[in-house]
Amino acid sequence: MNYAAAFRERIDALKQEGRYRVFADLERNAENPPYASYHETSEESSSVVVWCSNDYLGMSRNTNAINAFHEAVDRCGVGSGGTRNISGTNHYQVMLEAELADLHQKERALLFTSGYVANDACLSTVSKLLPDLVVFSDELNHASMIEGISHGNAEKKIFRHNDVGHLEKLLKETDPARPKLIAFESVYSMDGDIAPIAQIADLAKRYDALTYLDEVHAVGMYGERGAGIAEREGVMDRIDIIQGTLAKAFGAMGGYVTGDAVLIDCIRSYAPGFIFTTSLAPPLAAAALSSVRHLKSSQMERARHQERSATLKRKLSVAGIPIMKSQTHIVPVLVGDPVACKQVCDQLLRDHSIYVQPINYPTVPRGTERLRLTPTPLHTDWMMDQLVGALCEVWHASGLEKVA
Ligand SMILES: *Cc1c(COP(=O)(O)O)cnc(C)c1O
Repeated sequence: MNYAAAFRERIDALKQEGRYRVFADLERNAENPPYASYHETSEESSSVVVWCSNDYLGMSRNTNAINAFHEAVDRCGVGSGGTRNISGTNHYQVMLEAELADLHQKERALLFTSGYVANDACLSTVSKLLPDLVVFSDELNHASMIEGISHGNAEKKIFRHNDVGHLEKLLKETDPARPKLIAFESVYSMDGDIAPIAQIADLAKRYDALTYLDEVHAVGMYGERGAGIAEREGVMDRIDIIQGTLAKAFGAMGGYVTGDAVLIDCIRSYAPGFIFTTSLAPPLAAAALSSVRHLKSSQMERARHQERSATLKRKLSVAGIPIMKSQTHIVPVLVGDPVACKQVCDQLLRDHSIYVQPINYPTVPRGTERLRLTPTPLHTDWMMDQLVGALCEVWHASGLEKVA
C-alpha cells in the first residue's frame, strides 16, 4: 500500500475545498498587546494587530498573573513532575481547585490539562459510570463534548440548537427509568448566542436529568464574580456540572469541572483522561489562580470588554459589513464561502497587517464561513477604524456584498 499517497489524497481534498489550514507563525507582544510579530519567513517578520485571540481580557499578560507564574517557576520549576496520583499534585493546583469550587459555588472542582480534556474525560466517564445513560446534546456543542459523548458509548439524542421544545420532546420520548444527562454550552462561541439555561434546568428537573454546562466562553467575562452566564442569571445552583477553561479569559492554560463532591470524586477516581496524564504545570496553575482571584473582584476588564465589543459591532454595522446577530462579546462577520473567507483573511494580513483567522467547516456549517472577531479591552478605537476601513476595501476587492 502506498500510505503516503493515501495521506496526500486526504490533504488534497481539503485544499480543493479551500479549507486546508495554514498556521500563522506569531510572536505575541506582551508589552504591546494586541500586537504580535508575524513571522512570514524565517528571516522576515512584521507587526500585526491580532483580532481573533481567545485571550479575551488580555489576562495572559496581566502583571499579577505574570508575577505569579514567575514565582511558581522559581519555587517549583517548570513541570509538575507526575500525574496527580504519583507525585504530581502540587499545592498551586490544590489552591486553584478550591478557588474554582468557590467561584461556581460548588463543593468541589477538578483540574485537567485543558478544557478539551475536561469535556472529553468527564462526559465519557459519566456515561460509563451510569449504564444505560441517555445523553441529550445540543447540535452545536463543541467538538470536545461530541468526542466525550461518543467515547462514553452512551445513547445520544441531539436536540436542535437552543430549542427547549425539541429537547422536551426527546426527553418525553425517553424511558423515564433511564438515567439522563443534558449537555450544552452557555455561550456558543461561533455565533455568540446564549443558551436558555433556566429553561433547560426546568426540563432537567421535570425529567430527572443531570445537567452539564460548558461555560468556556463565559468564565471570567460574565457574572458579578466572573463565574459565567449561569452566575449572571442566578441559576448556578441548578446546574450539576459546570465546566470551564483557564485558557481563554483567564489567560493561562488548563480546564476544569465543578460539582458535588461525590460526583467530582467519581471523575477523579475513574476518568482515564484525568488519571493517566501529567498534571498541569505549577506556573500555569499559579497564573490561573491569580487571574481567577483578580476577576472575582475586578469589574473593570469585563465592563471595558463589553463596551469594546459593542463599539466594534456599531462601527461594522455603520460601514455595511454583514455581522451576524450575537448576544455576546463575539463579533462574527459572515462571508459564506470558504475560498472567499480565506482570501479576505490573506488580504487583511498581507495588505493591512491585520490578523484574523478564517473560520470554515467543520468548525461552522458549510455556507456560514466567517471571520470571528474578538475585540479585547486593549483594542483601541483607532485599531477598530483601521479594521473597518480595511474590511471595506477587501470586501469591495473580493466582490462581497455589503448590507444596508
Ligand atoms: C475552546 C473550547 C473548549 C476547550 O478548551 P481548551 O481549554 O482550549 O482545551 C471547550 N469548549 C468550548 C466550547 C471551547 O470553545
